[in-house]
Parts: sequence; structure tokens; C-alpha cells
Amino acid sequence: MREYLKFYIGGQWVDPAEQRTFDVVNPATEEVCGTVAVGSAADVDRAVAAAREAFATWSVTGREDRLEVLRNILGEYQKRAGDLAAALTEEMGAPAALAGGFQVGLGAGHLTTAIEVLENFAFEERRGATLVVKEPIGVCGLITPWNWPMSLIAVKVFPALATGCTMVLKPSERSPFTGQIFAEILAAAGVPAGVFNLLQGDGPSVGVPLSRHPGVDMISFTGSTRAGIEIARNAAPSVKRVTQELGGKSPNIILDDETFAENVRGGVGEMMGNSGQTCSAPSRMLVPSARMEEAIAIAEEAAAQVTVGDPTGDVVMGPVVSESQFEKVQALIQKGIDEGATLVAGGPGRPEGLERGYYVKPTVFANVTNDMTIAREEIFGPVVTILGYRDIDHAVEIANDTEYGLAGYVAGADLEQARAVARRIRAGWVVINGGFDFNCPFGGYKKSGNGREWGEFGFDDYLEVKGIPGYAPDEAAS
Ligand code: NAD
Repeated sequence: MREYLKFYIGGQWVDPAEQRTFDVVNPATEEVCGTVAVGSAADVDRAVAAAREAFATWSVTGREDRLEVLRNILGEYQKRAGDLAAALTEEMGAPAALAGGFQVGLGAGHLTTAIEVLENFAFEERRGATLVVKEPIGVCGLITPWNWPMSLIAVKVFPALATGCTMVLKPSERSPFTGQIFAEILAAAGVPAGVFNLLQGDGPSVGVPLSRHPGVDMISFTGSTRAGIEIARNAAPSVKRVTQELGGKSPNIILDDETFAENVRGGVGEMMGNSGQTCSAPSRMLVPSARMEEAIAIAEEAAAQVTVGDPTGDVVMGPVVSESQFEKVQALIQKGIDEGATLVAGGPGRPEGLERGYYVKPTVFANVTNDMTIAREEIFGPVVTILGYRDIDHAVEIANDTEYGLAGYVAGADLEQARAVARRIRAGWVVINGGFDFNCPFGGYKKSGNGREWGEFGFDDYLEVKGIPGYAPDEAAS
């Protein structure tokens, strides 16, 4: 049983203003595995005041000083990698390999990338007669979800620190443990008091007062479109910047060539990772209609190979995060059947032998049409939908026929064709044949949000841009 009853404010572990707590349920056992303090508007006031005070000095520290702090964090982070991974498995059911090697590794990757970007980042630049200066925006409210708790905290906190901002982090109430350990890491690394502050709680208790707070200059939010809209509304009266990384329903266009079988297999495997609880998951697989039967046979076999079970063991898939998520996914699977899609693998109910824990069967639907609910709504579970396309124009039309635009995937042997198709997808992150790059901007078109994270692009949202005109073309900058 974990007990986290203090918040990290102004460089101290302090008692919350009110004595209220919430329980965290381990989704693999359905048992309470921790108790965490709930914050309130008074705690938000205190944390924002600490961040505001620290901003005066942190915002003007030199690049080298900030680099030193970030490098210290990397050392401490690596020391605690095992603790972070264990916490992730406990709070949201990520299988050990996914939690440790992958998710904690992603966090380290974002940190290393922030260090590399900061080493060379141009905070000042001459453009003709104008000096353009990039300055930290101020106090940032960082609100994160439960599905990739560690990497989504990392992708916000490190660029914010690197650019000279101060911050208040509110992790998801479903996955508070990683946030707590992360705060311990930053404290041990010597991040100056007030630069980073941690509060715990849910949307109404902490997220709403943080979004409304006049002392907060920007909110960086990752989560559902519903909460993103509410945050933007609450932030509007104080005209703060709001960046939103929201939901997705991403297409995965499988080209018609000799790599078809491996790409269908790969697409199913990719969707099942993290039990399908990934905003950028390739949830709509598009295959040539003439090869639908072939795709069905391959996908059925691929789904059968996905091992499901206790996430502390060697499995591909653990449970989904909570009972409500389990119920939501079950209802959407039933909806797919009711609306006439062909159930190829999985389906309603729990996998055999897993009566306890929020386990879902790796599920594949085929002959899906893009008007079906399972092709339109973000299921956020291990469910692949396979749709047929006539030709590439039709594939692109289906791919873009969605209110979301976070990610897209193209898989095929003909790179020239794959790249041409990638350009036509209306999404912020389009992956060809599993390509990956920590410097690749990540963010959404349409209802998937605004703003970009990752690498150098991830710095921009934390910076204000000041133009100072009046320089002679050959005059030095300062
Ligand atoms: P959620 O929106 O319910 O919660 C996210 C965070 O916002 C939590 O910390 C929560 O406490 C807080 N929150 C909720 N309501 C709030 C409010 N009114 N004001 C302020 N804060 C509020 O989302 P979730 O269920 O935790 O995460 C799943 C969603 O996140 C999915 O839709 C997924 O697609 C999305 N997501 C997007 C990305 C991305 O990069 N685009 C990444 C991961 C997850």
C-alpha cells in the first residue's frame, strides 16, 4: 500500500490545505493499492505563488545552469527507473517490459532530447532590422492523463524547465504514483525551490482552479477532447495560452504490395500495445477491399498471439486502466457487433481464466465501414477495425473522414508512394513503416488539439516571442 499525503510546493513536502484523500485501484487485482491526498483551490493558490516567485530567478538563469540541472535530473531519473516502472504497472496495468524499457525509456529520451535541443537553441535571432527574442512564457500548469503517465509528464516538464519556465504539475488521479516519484527525482536533482511543484487531485478539485488561475500563464494539457474544451473555456477569461493534445482515431493505410501480410500483422500488434490505450494508436486499419479476406486471416492469427494477463509477468497486454474504461470498451465492442461489423477475434467479455482485473480480449473487427460507431469513436481499448478501400484516393478519403487528426500510418514497400500518401493525410504525425524520431513534432490537427510537443518544436509553446525592430542590418544583436 502506497501512501502519498503531501504535495511538493516551493521545494518542500507540505500538507494539503484540506484533509481529503482518494484511493488508487490496481486494475490487475481490483484492489486498492494506494492513498493519495486531494488538492483544492487553496493548494493551487499556494503552488502558483511558489512558481511565480521562482520564475523571477529561474527565467533569467543562463543556459549552462539549466543544462546542469537537466543533466542532474537524468542521473536521478536513471537511478529511479525501476521504481517508476513498478509504479506504472501498479497504477495503470502496463506490462513490466512496456512500463520499464519503453515508457520510462521514452521519458529519458525526452530528457536527453531536451538537453540536446537546449545546447543549441537560438533564443535570439536577427531578422533584417528586427531582433527576435524568445523568452519563457511564465508559470505553466501541466495537466496529464493516465495512459502514458511517465512519458507524458516528461514531454511537458523537460521543455518547460529547459526554456526557463516554472510550473505546477497535476498528474491524472488514476495514475498519481509516477508523478509523486518524479517529484522526488526533481527534488533530489536540485531543481531550485518553486520551479517545479506537484499537486494531486482530479479535474474539479485541482484541474479547474489551475486552468482558471490568473497567475498561470499557460496550460499544457494532454487528455480527452471533453476536458480539453472545458480547460480552454476556463482559461479564456485570463487569456492564457492553452495547448491541447487530445484524442485520435488514426488511420493505418496498408498498401497493396508484397509486404501486406507483415504490415497487417504489425498493425494489429501495434494496436494491442498498452491495451490500446494510446492516443495515437492505429485503430482504423485500411486494406485494399480485394484483400479483405486475406487481412482477416492474418489479423485473426496476430490477435491470437497477443498474450493477456498479470502485467507483472511476461505478457503483451495487461488490463485496461479502470472499471469504467472496461465497461466503455465492452459497450463499444457490443456496438460493433450490433452495427454489423464482422467479429474476427476477441469480442465481449473477459479473456478465459481472467475473472479478476479489467482484462479485455484482443479484438478485431473487419468489413467495418467508416460510418460505424467503432470507426468514428475513440475506443481506447485493444480493438482494431479493418476497413476496405478501392484505390489510394479512396483510402485517403476514408483516412481523412474523421473529426480527429492526431496521427496516421502508412505501411508498404514503395517508399515513394508511402511518402506521397503520408502528405495527403490530415494529421500532425504520420508514420511510415514504423519510423521514429524524438525530434519529430507531435500534435494534432482538427479536434486532436493544437500545439506541438517533442524535440525543438516542443520548446515553442513555452516561449513568448518578442520583436525589437530598429537594428541596422549590420549591427550586432545586443
Ligand atoms: P481526461 O481528459 O479525463 O483527464 C486528463 C487529465 O485532465 C487528468 O489529469 C484529469 O484529472 C484532468 N481533467 C479532467 N477534467 C478536467 C477539467 N475539467 N479541467 C482540468 N483538468 C481536468 O483524460 P484521460 O481519460 O486521463 O486520458 C485519456 C484521453 O487522453 C484520451 O482521449 C486520449 O486520446 C487522450 N490522450 C491524448 C494524447 C495526445 O498526445 N494527443 C496522449 C495521451 C492521451
